[in-house]
Amino acid sequence: MKTMIVGGGIGGLSTALSLHAAGLDCVVVEAARTLRPLGVGINVQPHAVREFTELGLGPELAELGVETTFMSVADRHGNIIMALPRGRSAGFRWPQYSVHRGELQMLLLAAVEKRIGPVRTGVAFEDFEQDDAGVLVTLREGGRISRERVDVLVGADGVQSSVRARLHDPAGDPLRWGGIRMWRGVGDSDQVLDGATVLAGGSNSAAKFVTYHISARNPRLLNWVAEVKVAEPGIVPDADWSREGAHADVCAHFAAWKYPLVDIPALLAATKRILEYPMVDRDPLPRWGEGRVTLLGDAAHPMYPVGSNGGSQAVLDARYLARCLATHDEPGAALAAYEQERRPPTSALVLAHRSLPLEETIALVSRRAPGGFRHIGEVLTAAEVAAMEAAQRGISDADVRALNERESWSV
Ligand SMILES: Cc1cc2nc3c(=O)[nH]c(=O)nc-3n(C[C@H](O)[C@H](O)[C@H](O)COP(=O)(O)OP(=O)(O)OC[C@H]3O[C@@H](n4cnc5c(N)ncnc54)[C@H](O)[C@@H]3O)c2cc1C
Repeated sequence: MKTMIVGGGIGGLSTALSLHAAGLDCVVVEAARTLRPLGVGINVQPHAVREFTELGLGPELAELGVETTFMSVADRHGNIIMALPRGRSAGFRWPQYSVHRGELQMLLLAAVEKRIGPVRTGVAFEDFEQDDAGVLVTLREGGRISRERVDVLVGADGVQSSVRARLHDPAGDPLRWGGIRMWRGVGDSDQVLDGATVLAGGSNSAAKFVTYHISARNPRLLNWVAEVKVAEPGIVPDADWSREGAHADVCAHFAAWKYPLVDIPALLAATKRILEYPMVDRDPLPRWGEGRVTLLGDAAHPMYPVGSNGGSQAVLDARYLARCLATHDEPGAALAAYEQERRPPTSALVLAHRSLPLEETIALVSRRAPGGFRHIGEVLTAAEVAAMEAAQRGISDADVRALNERESWSV
């Protein structure tokens, strides 16, 4: 059985490695001419680290990223509201890592090239037709159109997926923007907190600043994301992860901050390239694919990048898809089983991310203690803190025991 994977991002490459580990044949086509280490920071949750470990990539991942200890939330004066343990600190058998998204992609690409062969870059998916015997895929390479027959087609082509657009009328499936603009970058910085904490300060009702270190080799590299509500929710035509942003646009929102945890002006000044992205998602779909064609990762369930879960969920999709294809005789039945397992939890996550669970409580803290506080107990009741912690866990954590005790998805 031969599978064509459209997209060489974290989802597509993880799918190739998972299919190969399950003894299945596959090819990855990627529209970009060259895969380069694009993007900035991303977190890999313990459930995804487990899958990478089972694919034999655990040691390389450990060399690349920073093992995350806590996710801490502060008000805009730098007073810590809560610190949630992450990864092994939270009891998981596998760590959480904060990494550079592009470096993770390059790690996966190197593994694909070594184990399977080259990714076919500069090849874009255009269209497909399917019958009972297979899928006929139309591809564009430069100006040349070609058609190839495969047994299964997987759309791992990201938030602006062409495979999804072929399966679901784009008019009824728009990019939904909550009105928050994100600026992202990586700069040189002194160590923040313990050097391994994801720190979120402020709230989206005004402006929020998230930082985390992302490199085991260079502990001074600090990833940052500034999130600012700039418009009312609406529909946008596109969302480009590589769009350049301007220093001045970001700085203005943080000029009045006195934030002892991070020197924000210095960090912004030390950032060579700023990227700008609208915080978008799409409504969950009632079904992903049909017959021998399915979706995976952001193509299937784009979610707000606020819970450190989009990339990790793509990895889970990849591993479970490979398991289904290896254990079912008929591709259509395999894809139906994959979708039945993965669609409900990822649809719930899309909606949970949309509710921006931390915001209400952080906003409450700033209303009750606009000038800051010494101890959070002066501002919030224990029940309010517990509710906030539970809401955040709802978008980022798997259940510790369930993950630790679940059987392996390796075949
Ligand atoms: C350039 C880039 C930078 C990013 N930076 C960040 C970041 O800094 N922080 C963060 O949290 N998330 C970032 N993301 C998103 C993040 O990688 C995803 O949310 C997550 O990893 C899930 O990955 P995915 O493989 O499903 O989708 P993606 O990572 O988006 O990968 C999709 C791939 O499909 C390819 N593709 C698209 N259309 C076609 C087509 N028609 N034919 C063939 N190939 C196609 C794209 O070129 C891309 O390589 C970035 C994504 C991209 C593409």
